[in-house]
Amino acid sequence: MGTTTRRSIHRRDRLVPERDRDAYAIPEKLPENTVCPGCGALYERGRWQWATAKGEGANHLCPACHRIRDHQPAGVVTLGGPFFVHHGQEIVGLLTQEAEREEREHPLHRVMGVEGEGEGMVVQTTDVHLGRRLGEAIHHAYGGDLSIQYADDEQLVRVHWRR
Ligand SMILES: [Zn+2]
Repeated sequence: MGTTTRRSIHRRDRLVPERDRDAYAIPEKLPENTVCPGCGALYERGRWQWATAKGEGANHLCPACHRIRDHQPAGVVTLGGPFFVHHGQEIVGLLTQEAEREEREHPLHRVMGVEGEGEGMVVQTTDVHLGRRLGEAIHHAYGGDLSIQYADDEQLVRVHWRR
């Protein structure tokens, strides 16, 4: 199973140089109160935030929803090892908690996909910070081996944790 997962990541990597590097950057001048039709986040005072009321501005997909639509993660977190196999549920619980906390504060920091289970798992995130944070949270809680590598001008982070 682990091999299949790895192969699919490599396939994605090959696409990286071909895509527009700025495709997911926030445009400089989105009008105030722009609403993301994907998640309902509101662009206010220069940043995307969770709206407390229904927004009524122009529609524009936020960078997180843009990545989700294109299946282009900014963070790829790979988890594996015998300890993971035996404590998978517990570790996923910790990941979920971390991801939810981060998403509440930062609308653009989201988990966009989870593949595999049992022997290993790959979690994809919409931004590099969340990917790194998930790896560090697991490492902090359970020890093991953590590696964090940035690629593509730091627009992509690969996090590997194993124990
Ligand atoms: Zn959105």
